[in-house]
Amino acid sequence: MKTVGLVGWRGMVGSVLLQRMREEGDLGLIDAVFFSTSNAGARAPAELGGGRLEDAYDINALKKLDIIITAQGGDYTSEVFASLRRAGWQGYWIDAASTLRMERDAIIILDPVNRDVIERALGAGIRNYIGGNCTVSCMLMGVGGLFRHDLIEWMTCTTYQAASGGGAQHMRELLTQFGTLHESVAGLLADPHSAILEIDRAVLDAQQGLPTAATRQFGVPLAGNLIPWIADDLGNGMSKEEWKGGVETNKILARGAGFGAAAIPIDSTCVRVGAMRCHSQALTIKLKSAVPESELEEIIAGSTPWTRLVPNTREDSMRWLTPAAVTGTMDIPVGRVRKLAMGPEYLGAFTVGDQLLWGAAEPLRRMMRILIEG
Ligand code: NAP
Repeated sequence: MKTVGLVGWRGMVGSVLLQRMREEGDLGLIDAVFFSTSNAGARAPAELGGGRLEDAYDINALKKLDIIITAQGGDYTSEVFASLRRAGWQGYWIDAASTLRMERDAIIILDPVNRDVIERALGAGIRNYIGGNCTVSCMLMGVGGLFRHDLIEWMTCTTYQAASGGGAQHMRELLTQFGTLHESVAGLLADPHSAILEIDRAVLDAQQGLPTAATRQFGVPLAGNLIPWIADDLGNGMSKEEWKGGVETNKILARGAGFGAAAIPIDSTCVRVGAMRCHSQALTIKLKSAVPESELEEIIAGSTPWTRLVPNTREDSMRWLTPAAVTGTMDIPVGRVRKLAMGPEYLGAFTVGDQLLWGAAEPLRRMMRILIEG
């Protein structure tokens, strides 16, 4: 049995990862060792066996492992990974953080889409397997078939990304803000005759008056608001989240410099919205040729066994194509599929995915299964 260290299991991604590992019986196939960055020495929760938590910074403890799965975050990876490799560790590193994704000796894992790339890398002795950006992974799980058939000339994505994309603390902050806004007008709401403009004004006052502690994670209010910038400012008008959309998609598909196939231009506008879970995105695709819509629908539906084509009707879109409908499911619905007014080579689509499942936890546990099942 392989010894597998789990770091970051308490966080948003880590909790979903453990939930999926339990559901799929993964924990019975490995010797799991649980680590903590903040609580080493304490007892692990009973459902994890109740053993002592190891120190996630202890290189000697980490060196004993065959596989490390970390959902702890980029700071942890930066602090530990290089020292561990320098200390001679030859095991497999599986990581949710973006730190190593674009390194030459790292593969971005999304096996329903790039199993061939993963297999080639394993054969070549690569030992670093990194989960992709959540929005990118969900998009490829939705329309990967169009890439596989080499139908896309370029694509833009306008994203609507949930609070949980930032982690556990961000979800708490969003909900606390909703509570504050509701409290500020609870009396007025209880009175069916109160003036709506008075309610509106009071909510705005509450949003604009939120203390710093109430916006520590997002920087500005998110409840009843949206934020058209996610992650770092690259200084060229683009956010890091938007940059990832292009470079990671191409790396997952083994396209671009060094891969022998031209990169496909992909650009995005990434927006944080007050959804709890699931990243949604509206796609505009320039096709290489005017393939009929019905053929495109068939190709999209066949992207992966989890892709679901949603008929482009009001009723189906409202019922099946929302974060509330998709959260907690492995399904990746794609809907609003239609040719656009710009011409027969332009396709619009809308897709929603639970970014904590396919966008984060699932590729990690599936990579572990690929390793332990040989
Ligand atoms: P997170 O929820 O903030 O968890 C990260 C760590 O924070 C936990 O392992 C825990 O470490 C610590 N922590 C501190 N306070 C906590 C609290 N109140 N509840 C739970 N944990 C707390 O971060 P995350 O969203 O899981 O992201 C982890 C990594 O995955 C990041 O690199 C992120 O970029 C990447 N990722 C995230 C998503 C997403 O949708 N969230 C998607 C794809 C990739 P200790 O137990 O050691 O203290």
